[in-house]
Amino acid sequence: MGGGLSGLTAGIALAQAGKDVALVSAGQSMMHFMGGSLDLLGSDPSGNDVYKPLEAIATLNSKHPYTKIEDVSRLAGVAKQVLERVGLATTGDTTVNHWRITPIGGLMPTWLTVQGMATVADPDQMPWHSVTLVNIINFLDFPTKMIAAGLRDRGVQVDVKAVTLPELQVLRQSPTEMRSTNIAKVIERNDLIMKLADEINAQVGKGCDMVMLPSVLGIASGDKASQLLRLINVQAAYLDTLPPTLPGVRMQAMLRKHFTALGGTFITGDQVTGGVWEGDELKGVTTAKLEGDVLKAKHFVLATGSLASRGIVADYNHMYEPALGVDIDDLGLDRTTWAKLDVTEAQPYMEVGVATDAKLRCQRNGKTVANLYAAGSILSGHNSVKLLDGAGVDMLTALQVANNILNQ
Ligand SMILES: Cc1cc2nc3c(=O)[nH]c(=O)nc-3n(C[C@H](O)[C@H](O)[C@H](O)COP(=O)(O)OP(=O)(O)OC[C@H]3O[C@@H](n4cnc5c(N)ncnc54)[C@H](O)[C@@H]3O)c2cc1C
Repeated sequence: MGGGLSGLTAGIALAQAGKDVALVSAGQSMMHFMGGSLDLLGSDPSGNDVYKPLEAIATLNSKHPYTKIEDVSRLAGVAKQVLERVGLATTGDTTVNHWRITPIGGLMPTWLTVQGMATVADPDQMPWHSVTLVNIINFLDFPTKMIAAGLRDRGVQVDVKAVTLPELQVLRQSPTEMRSTNIAKVIERNDLIMKLADEINAQVGKGCDMVMLPSVLGIASGDKASQLLRLINVQAAYLDTLPPTLPGVRMQAMLRKHFTALGGTFITGDQVTGGVWEGDELKGVTTAKLEGDVLKAKHFVLATGSLASRGIVADYNHMYEPALGVDIDDLGLDRTTWAKLDVTEAQPYMEVGVATDAKLRCQRNGKTVANLYAAGSILSGHNSVKLLDGAGVDMLTALQVANNILNQ
């Protein structure tokens, strides 16, 4: 249940192991907000940057989902391999974090970054002397002034340029159309990569040792995005834009394609509405569209996301899991303590999620459900915005759940 990073990772691992897997997903996932980097642990609970993620993970409190992973280092390696098998080569590993450049010009520690994106090994030592930042004219999701200011603060000389093509003019008629995904469609469908490369090369002056571009290519695969980089006369790389973020959109498309190539069934645009229970065992689930039908299985994985994807829902007084009514771990919070008034503080409600046992099995009315597991951002016990551990928790808990099912 749930076609985001966690649901797809679990689905792929189980289909790869020969299981018959069906995945029901209500809608698009948070991957449309994720950039080209996957975080394992970028910040400790006190807000300090993490350089060596495995060392910092060993110090996390017992509520954190990583404490339910048998071997974080090994599964992190498996996660990287899954991405590679799907066609997403990444740089980075668990020994030391590298830094990604955010769409507003900051640097953030991260674990894996899709190849072709600009990264920095040491935040105190920028690898470029002179950068040319090239935007698409009228593309507002790439705030070049902020990115340039961030790079200049770190001693980099930055030239800001912008290019366009006649074919992109049509998108400009409405600012809502000038989005990364639409730009990619126009350039890729009309085979405009060479033309775009010529425009970019014309803007690059002498002395420039890096061209940085908004991530506006590569909607279904990374081929076109790589092709453009090869055609630029100097070293070139992409930066994340504001959402929709193409590397995440592409990651979702490629994971989904791989899952179905392994024989998985992807039921999209439908929503799990309830469970069919026999005692404490889940026998099947009902969905909004398969009226009267029950999807039966031996094992179930709940990967329906957190509040943003409605995997968890809050009313005035409670937070609850709406699909199957499994127990929530409210961490002792109530509505008066869910939120802090200062929005920049870690918000306690973000750590609320479903309760699971040591094997990541859900609980219902206080009892463990032996064949229902949870994975990803629906889990309680961490705040991915503050700890920068989103994709790591999603992929590692999904792989652990797949292992738990296979070893049951
Ligand atoms: C703005 C933003 C930027 C981020 N950037 C990064 C980043 O750069 N790097 C990083 O590592 N992490 C990042 N994260 C965190 C990361 O995006 C999440 O951890 C991750 O996407 C969560 O994946 P998931 O599969 O658990 O849930 P989701 O992606 O939320 O997927 C849940 C899926 O379940 C479906 N669903 C919900 N209810 C039902 C139902 N009843 N039946 C069937 N399907 C259902 C939803 O439609 C959705 O498709 C970011 C998060 C945000 C909010």
